[in-house]
Amino acid sequence: VGDSADFDEEVESICPFCGVGCQVSLKVKDGKVKYVEGINGPANEGRLCVKGRFGFDYIHHPHRLTKPLIRRQDAPEKGLNVDPGNWQTHFREALWEEALDFAAAGMKGRGREIAGFGSAKCTNEEAYLFQKLIRQGFGHNNVDHCTRLCHASSVAALMENVGSGAVTATFNEIENADVAIVIGANPIENHPVAATFFKQFAKRGGKLIVMDPRGQALKRFASHMLQFRPGADVSMLNAIMHVIVEEGLYDQQYIDAYTENWEAEKRHLADFSPEAMAPICGIEPEVLRDVARTFAGAKAAMIFWGMGISQHIHGTDNSRCLISLALMTGQVGRPGSGLHPLRGQNNVQGASDAGLIPMFLPDYQPVTDDGVRSAFTKVWGTADFSNERGLTVTEIMDAVHADKIKGMYILGENPAMSDPDVEHARAALAKLDHLVVQDIFLTETANYADVILPASAFAEKTGTVTNTNRQVQMGRPAVAPPGDAREDWWIEVELAKRLGLPWDYQSPADVFAEMKQNMRSLDNITWERLSGENAVTYPSLSPQDPGQAIVFGDGFPRPEGRARFTPASVIAPDDVPDEDYPMILTTGRQLEHWHTGSMTRRSTVLDGLEPEANCSLHPSTLRKLGVAPGEHVLLTTKRGSISIMAREDRAVAPDMVFVPFAYVEAAANILTNPAIDPFGKIPEFKFSAVRVEKAEGA
Ligand code: SF4
Repeated sequence: VGDSADFDEEVESICPFCGVGCQVSLKVKDGKVKYVEGINGPANEGRLCVKGRFGFDYIHHPHRLTKPLIRRQDAPEKGLNVDPGNWQTHFREALWEEALDFAAAGMKGRGREIAGFGSAKCTNEEAYLFQKLIRQGFGHNNVDHCTRLCHASSVAALMENVGSGAVTATFNEIENADVAIVIGANPIENHPVAATFFKQFAKRGGKLIVMDPRGQALKRFASHMLQFRPGADVSMLNAIMHVIVEEGLYDQQYIDAYTENWEAEKRHLADFSPEAMAPICGIEPEVLRDVARTFAGAKAAMIFWGMGISQHIHGTDNSRCLISLALMTGQVGRPGSGLHPLRGQNNVQGASDAGLIPMFLPDYQPVTDDGVRSAFTKVWGTADFSNERGLTVTEIMDAVHADKIKGMYILGENPAMSDPDVEHARAALAKLDHLVVQDIFLTETANYADVILPASAFAEKTGTVTNTNRQVQMGRPAVAPPGDAREDWWIEVELAKRLGLPWDYQSPADVFAEMKQNMRSLDNITWERLSGENAVTYPSLSPQDPGQAIVFGDGFPRPEGRARFTPASVIAPDDVPDEDYPMILTTGRQLEHWHTGSMTRRSTVLDGLEPEANCSLHPSTLRKLGVAPGEHVLLTTKRGSISIMAREDRAVAPDMVFVPFAYVEAAANILTNPAIDPFGKIPEFKFSAVRVEKAEGA
C-alpha cells in the first residue's frame, strides 16, 4: 500500500470477481492501475480478499485484445488451436466499421437461427441491452448467461415458493443472528469477504452449522460440521425437518399467517426419520436431531447456500428444502433471519434482474405474459416478439448440433471452458457458421469465432452492478481501454444499429433510465443517486431510503402474500458410480482462480500462487493408487479423460476427487455430466462417476 504521492488519481469502483461486490479504490499512475484498496462499501466495510487486492493486473496484460479481428479465409480449421500471443495465422485485424458490418451481416434476418449468451461480468446496462438486442432484433428469447450454470435452480425454487429470486436478507445480517447454516458453499475460498463476517459471527458465540460433502476451512469455526454423502442433500434436510415436525418445534403462528401447503409438507416429511435417512446421508441420527433443535430453537437464524446445493439434477429440490426449513421455523423477514443463496459472479444478480434469461424479461416478468411483453415493446417502440420461453445455455448447444441454431453472439462468456461435457460445446461452437465473440481476451471460445470485438475490463467502463445482497453499485472508469477496445455498451449499440434497430443511447445513464420504466425493483434508485452514494439496496422505499436489507417481514410477493411449502422427494444423481467408474467427481473454484481462468491466470500474483492444474484426493486414496502428492493422476468419466497433478487433502472423502475448473490444460468440464435439473435447467457439475488411476509417467 502506498500513499497519495504514488499515484495520479484514485477512482472508486467495484471488484470484478465474486458476488460479494466489494467496493475498491483504484490507484492510477501513468494510465495504469498500480494498486487497489478496499473502501467502505455496504458489503465489504473496507475489506478485500486476495483476488480483489492483487488480481487486477490482468487488465494491462499483453494478451488484451486491442483491435477487432476477423477470421482469415485461409485460417486453419476451427478448433481450440489459437495461441493468444500469436493469433495472426487465424485472424486479421480490421477496423471497427468493417468488423461491426461483418458481425451484423452474418446475423441479420436469421431469426431463430441466432442465439445469444450475455455476461454476468458486464454491467446491468450492458446485460439489459444484450437481452433487448436478441429479443427485439431476432424476435425470440434464446438468450441466457452463466446463471444457468450457477444458481438457476435456486432462483427457480425461490420464485416458486417465495415469489422472488433474490436474497431475503443481506449476508451482513448474520451479525443479528444466533444460528446460521452454510450448506454447499465454501465461502472462505469463494466469497472470502463474506466469510470474514461468518467467522466473526462464530467468534462472538453464534452457532455456525456447516454442511458439505467436502470438509473446508470454515469447519474450524463451526459448532456443527456435517460432512454428508454427496447427492444426499434432500435426505439429510428432510430428516432435519422431520425432527422439527416430530418434536413440535415449528412456528405454527408464522406458518398460519404467511404460508400455504403446510399440511402436505408435514405429511411428506413423515417418511424421513433420521434413523431411516442416516445410512443414506452418512450423518448420525443424533447429530441430525441436534441440528434440528439448534436451528428451530434460534431466536434468529439464516441459511446460506452455494453451488453445492444448486448444481445437481435435484438442485431445485435442494433449495425447496432450505426454503421449507426457513418457513417452518419462521426464519424469514426479521433481523438476523433469512434465505441467502451466495451469488457467484460479480453481476450475476444484476444480469438476471436485467432479463438475461430465456424465460423472463427484466425483473423476472414472464415472457409468456402478453401484458408484460406489450409493456416492453411500448418502451422499445417495436413489434411484439415470441411468447415462448427461449432455450437455455446447454439447450442452445444441443440446438446447434441439431442444426436449429447456426449463429451466436457471445459476450464475455466462455462456454468452451464452462459448459458441462465441454467437448460437446466446443464441437457446437466449431459447427456454427457465424460466431461473434465480444471479450477482453482471445478466450477459448474466441478460438472458434468468425469475428472478435475487443471490449473493456471493469476498470475501463462506467456502469452499475448488483451484488448478492441486492446492492446496486456504481462502477467507474479509472483507465482507458487499450488500443481500439471499446466499452461493451457501445459495441452493442453499434451492432444493434446495423441490425436495423432504432437505438439511440448516448451513455449508460440513458440505458439505466429506460430500464427504470419497466423495473419496479429500481424505483427510487436513480443514476444520480448511485453516482453520489455508490450503492443503494433494492427495494428502496423512498429517494432517501438506502434500501431494505431484509424483505418479506409482512408477507411475500405471491398469491395472498403467502410463501409455499413444496415437498421434495429424493432423486438420485444421474451418473452414479459403478465398477468402471467407482469414485465421485466434484468440481468448483479455488481461492486464487476465477471461473475459466481467463482473468486470474493472467494475474501475476494469483497465477504465481496457483500456477498448475490440480485435483484434491484423500491421502488414503493416493496411497491406494501408489501416487505421491505432486504426481499426476488420470481422471476418466464417460465423457473423457484428463491428466492432472494430485494434491493430498484430508477434507475430501476417500471416494471423491475435487477438480477446479479454471485450467484449460486439464479442463475439468471435459469430465462433467450435462444432465440437467428439470426446473432450473442447471447441469450436475457436482456429481459424476469417475475412475482415478496413476497417470503414465506420473
Ligand atoms: Fe472481490 Fe469477492 Fe474478494 Fe470481495 S470477496 S475482493 S468481491 S473476489
